[in-house]
Amino acid sequence: MALTVFGLTGGIGSGKSTVAAHFAKRGVPIVDADELAREVVRPGAPALEEIVQTFGREVLAADGALDRRALAERVFTDEAARKRLEAITHPRIAALARERFAQLEAEGHTLACYVVPLLFERGLEDTYRPVVTVVASERAQIERAAARDAVSPAHVAARLRAQLPLEEKARRSDYVIDNSGSLVNTLVEADRVLDAIRRAHAGPRAS
Ligand code: ADP
Repeated sequence: MALTVFGLTGGIGSGKSTVAAHFAKRGVPIVDADELAREVVRPGAPALEEIVQTFGREVLAADGALDRRALAERVFTDEAARKRLEAITHPRIAALARERFAQLEAEGHTLACYVVPLLFERGLEDTYRPVVTVVASERAQIERAAARDAVSPAHVAARLRAQLPLEEKARRSDYVIDNSGSLVNTLVEADRVLDAIRRAHAGPRAS
């Protein structure tokens, strides 16, 4: 049976990683676009070379690795720069994702989850279906992400405004998990969603 890859998305601090960790516990292989994004720019990777050629050595940390925060700050307010960066990284991330899924399929898995924070913004909602969106109140998102990343609430709020509104993502999704309340509630909802996906999209020996 073919592999179904469902997308898992949400906003900053909405709880994507929390839900993904729970799906993993329930035996779903997880591929995380942020991890792939880090992998394609690791020291020695061709993408890192191209990034240094494009943005200069100031985006490198002292040890020669990419300073992802510095680069993110550099492109956050510069649309053209962001596009140049994405032209370098996106095709490589997509290729790596396809490689991972081909491998999972070869291993006999019928279901996998691709965590992509900006799934809708990247136009990937038709590629990774069904789409599950984790939502939380803006207040919860800001408080949780600020605490997790040790940054100011204003910093998180600015990044939130650069993303599609969560309501819009929820409207365009097949399943929505509300993580505004307690973790226990969220995991019960996540179980329900995963059961529904397994019934609808994967065979009897779902991975
Ligand atoms: P995302 O991956 O969407 O950015 P995370 O899953 O990392 O979000 O969650 C953001 C932070 O909030 C993490 O530190 C996480 O442990 C915490 N968190 C997630 N869900 C809840 C919840 N329901 N109640 C309290 N804290 C939560």
